[in-house]
Amino acid sequence: MKFREVYCTNCKKTLGRYNMEFYDEDKISEVLKTSHSMHVRNGHQVNIRFVNG
Ligand SMILES: [Zn+2]
Repeated sequence: MKFREVYCTNCKKTLGRYNMEFYDEDKISEVLKTSHSMHVRNGHQVNIRFVNG
């Protein structure tokens, strides 16, 4: 399966992995605004990378 992995460069950790079948770009930005908003608000560099799981 392919995943989008949300990774925070500042915290140096993976915030979550989302199956690409269920999470398109819109859903991911939704997740960033809700679940991971703390990082975004603090100006952290949050990257999306693609992984095979
Ligand atoms: Zn962070």
